[in-house]
Amino acid sequence: MPREVNRRKHKAKWGQHFLVDDQIIDRILSYADVQPTETILEIGGGTGNLTRKLALRCYKLSVIEADWQLAEKLRTIPGVEVLHGDALRVEFPPFDKTVSNLPYQISSEVTFKLLKYPFVCGVLMYQREFAERMVATPGTKDYSRLTVCLSYRSQVEVIERVARTAFVPRPRVDSAIVKLIPVKPRFDVLDEVFFHDFVRALFTQRRKRLKAALMTAARLLNAQAVDELIAKLPPRCLLHRPYELSPEEIAVLSDDLFSLNQLQTGGA
Ligand code: SAM
Repeated sequence: MPREVNRRKHKAKWGQHFLVDDQIIDRILSYADVQPTETILEIGGGTGNLTRKLALRCYKLSVIEADWQLAEKLRTIPGVEVLHGDALRVEFPPFDKTVSNLPYQISSEVTFKLLKYPFVCGVLMYQREFAERMVATPGTKDYSRLTVCLSYRSQVEVIERVARTAFVPRPRVDSAIVKLIPVKPRFDVLDEVFFHDFVRALFTQRRKRLKAALMTAARLLNAQAVDELIAKLPPRCLLHRPYELSPEEIAVLSDDLFSLNQLQTGGA
């Protein structure tokens, strides 16, 4: 009995909700347009519902699965390379496309990890609210750090909303299938790492006026440079709120702050 309880805990921890609707699985495959020459990466193979169909269509399929019992079962599917481990720690093998019903608890980290690799596109299942934040427009409640950082170097489209009834066990949330296409940076930034740090700091106060948000951000960034940036900006601009600014406008602020920072630290 204790072992059973323990095992359930693990399943919850790994977000094990298996997609059992064959029609949705088939549509995922057609959205990904998997070719017999392509190498596919699947993150979280689970019971293999998607894996089995993918394996029949592609040249090579690599599957990462954290649960060793499921990993062992996935190894019985012909033509599949199974990597047992945490997708956030395992080095991804080279891949053309990724087709995955993701473990939702690592949605953000795994998406940004994917974008560090070269690939053609991803067809990925996310929690519906998360997918809506990925594609939100400035000024809306879903517009967030995630939206800004993704828009910098990817094209995101929500292709289909999926009801919770398509999964066993049934999750408490609905889902959405997203197409993610990596693109060249869509606008210039002087320093990518600084830009991402700036966006993170700015969006800790996304609904405050820009002046207050920047002052909060000053705790995480160079406070003196932030003061100078505030002094330099037209007062009208300071009335805006971070969630109202487009990614490009945020990039301009980030660059201004980066330059002031460089001036003060002598470019170190
Ligand atoms: N692909 C299967 C399907 O569509 O039915 C399973 C999807 S289920 C939502 C997510 C799967 O990811 C589970 O099998 C879970 O064990 C696995 N998983 C959870 N966290 C993981 C991680 N950090 N790295 C790799 N796999 C993980």
